[in-house]
Amino acid sequence: MNLERRRFDALIIGAGGAGLRAALQLARADAKVAVVSKVFPTRSHTVAAQGGVNAALANVVEDNWHWHMFDTVKGSDYLGDQDAIEYMCRAAPQVVYELDHFGVPFSRLEDGNIYQRAFGGQSRNFGGEQAMRTCAAADRTGHAILHSLYQQNIRAKTHFFDEYFAVDLIKDADGHVLGALAFSIETGEPILIEAKATLLATGGAGQMYRTNTNALINTGDGLAMALRAGIPLQDMEFIQFHPTGIAGRGMLITEGSRGEGGYLLNSDGERFMERYAPHAKDLASRDVVSRAIYTEVKEGRGVGPNKDHVLLKLDHLGADVIKSRLPGIRDSSMTFVHVDPIEQPIPIYPTCHYMMGGIPTNRHGEVVAPLRESAEEPVPGLYAAGECACVSVHGANRLGGNSLLDILVFGRAAANQMIEFLAENPHNRPMDDSAVDAAMARLHRWEKKGDGERPEQLRAELKKAMEDHAGVFREEGLLAEGVKKVREIAERFKDATLSDHSRVFNTARVEAMETENLIDCAMAASMSAHARQESRGAHSRVDFEKRDDEKWMKHTLYFLESDSLDYKPVRTRPLTVESFPPKERVY
Ligand code: FAD
Repeated sequence: MNLERRRFDALIIGAGGAGLRAALQLARADAKVAVVSKVFPTRSHTVAAQGGVNAALANVVEDNWHWHMFDTVKGSDYLGDQDAIEYMCRAAPQVVYELDHFGVPFSRLEDGNIYQRAFGGQSRNFGGEQAMRTCAAADRTGHAILHSLYQQNIRAKTHFFDEYFAVDLIKDADGHVLGALAFSIETGEPILIEAKATLLATGGAGQMYRTNTNALINTGDGLAMALRAGIPLQDMEFIQFHPTGIAGRGMLITEGSRGEGGYLLNSDGERFMERYAPHAKDLASRDVVSRAIYTEVKEGRGVGPNKDHVLLKLDHLGADVIKSRLPGIRDSSMTFVHVDPIEQPIPIYPTCHYMMGGIPTNRHGEVVAPLRESAEEPVPGLYAAGECACVSVHGANRLGGNSLLDILVFGRAAANQMIEFLAENPHNRPMDDSAVDAAMARLHRWEKKGDGERPEQLRAELKKAMEDHAGVFREEGLLAEGVKKVREIAERFKDATLSDHSRVFNTARVEAMETENLIDCAMAASMSAHARQESRGAHSRVDFEKRDDEKWMKHTLYFLESDSLDYKPVRTRPLTVESFPPKERVY
């Protein structure tokens, strides 16, 4: 086969925070590392993260990692794996200090320490007063982190394949992952990247929904690659709807704006969160605030000519605080709805934001899937970290500020595990051409002529189906109809073709493959949501209003090959401390 081949020790697919943190660790350990990204690395979605990263530094008020762990377990509605949560919360201060040393320009307190703000679901002393745990670089924390990590990688001589699209993983007959097929978006030329260890760090799949806070590139490619490699996806029913998206547009207004003292109002001018979460009010967990907004609008207390949103009031904070701590959200608000928050409240409504589920991994970043006899056996040579992975530290609901932490802690942990794997597996395993054929066929499919339906039309239908059938509130009939619609779209997609006009553009081929990936993710999400007959975290069923620990204290697994579900237990035992048993979750 006439195909360009390159060999590396480690291949990282994805140049967001997770991929770049992992690459840096590997490159500094003298591994030969390739990073493939479909966009220039510093355009990866991590760049959009606003509010900050959690770590119990105790710079503003008393704090410790054990309280952070409690909040994360409670926030997860007890579905998070407590060993991984303990690991993450304990490692948090160290990864933040590392960032400081990498050059991240954190905002500072007067004493020179890193500035920390309040975020939702944070408490002191196991459920007591509000904590202030989120380390911020104004409201552009992700931007600062991503640029610093990129610069450090350049210095460490990481090799970048910028604007290359990864098509599929390559496996041998024994199930070892040997690298991936990618192609240059500029030239259309395919390339086979062979590696002894491969990390998926491809981010989330927010583009499954019509209204979302995500970049256009968040199309679940890594998740679908894992599915096609026979690996199930875990807990895909848990999709976070962020309470404060700009109404009608979806762009994010960070939770940090409520952390700085902003609050929500309905059409009566009432600060309604006092009714839903008397203690935490506007800083209750995201699922709680999103449901409250949805209920206010449904019960007729929405704002605007169509009474279809609520307001986020910030003007009382004063121009100085808004300009210094929240400059980015002021820009977004003025650009997209022509509202200056220094003078007027911002119209907001919940919007799809984050995926708690993903590729099942352990806390070492190893992909663990029931491919073989044991459910916990790692897939040799394959790792995952970041939003595409499910460790699971977020369980049924992620706390704000914990995702940047997740990508840093587990990006680094996965790289450390890969370094050990490389020491034990110093040679590239032989790659049979037949292993590459299926991936090449996926690429070539879009060169063929035909008059099938267009991928972009099917993508629009998919996004609408997910929004209509798997949103903030869910119910049996709605979900069953959603599964049916997604399945029909998947069937129709088999005959889809590009138009003669768009077939010549590599970007059209990329969008078609992304659409196929989104369909697989939507199938996993809608089927998993339909099956889970309880309300837990972000999964809120009006027909099963209560959490049911007896039947549903378990992780969902969706398998593409058999289009079926299975379940596995939650790891309730932490590493060194007592477990936090499930309790009613009130804020
Ligand atoms: P990403 O940063 O999304 O990177 C994915 C990478 O994969 C990209 O480089 C992309 O090019 C590459 N890729 C994907 N598919 C392919 C393919 N097929 N071929 C090649 N490359 C591919 N979390 C917090 O903790 N605090 C916050 O303040 C915060 N703010 C947020 C604000 C917004 C608007 C949003 C949407 C999210 C926010 N989050 C926040 C969540 C957090 O930013 C993300 O979960 C996190 O940055 C994801 O990082 P990642 O490295 O997993 O993926």
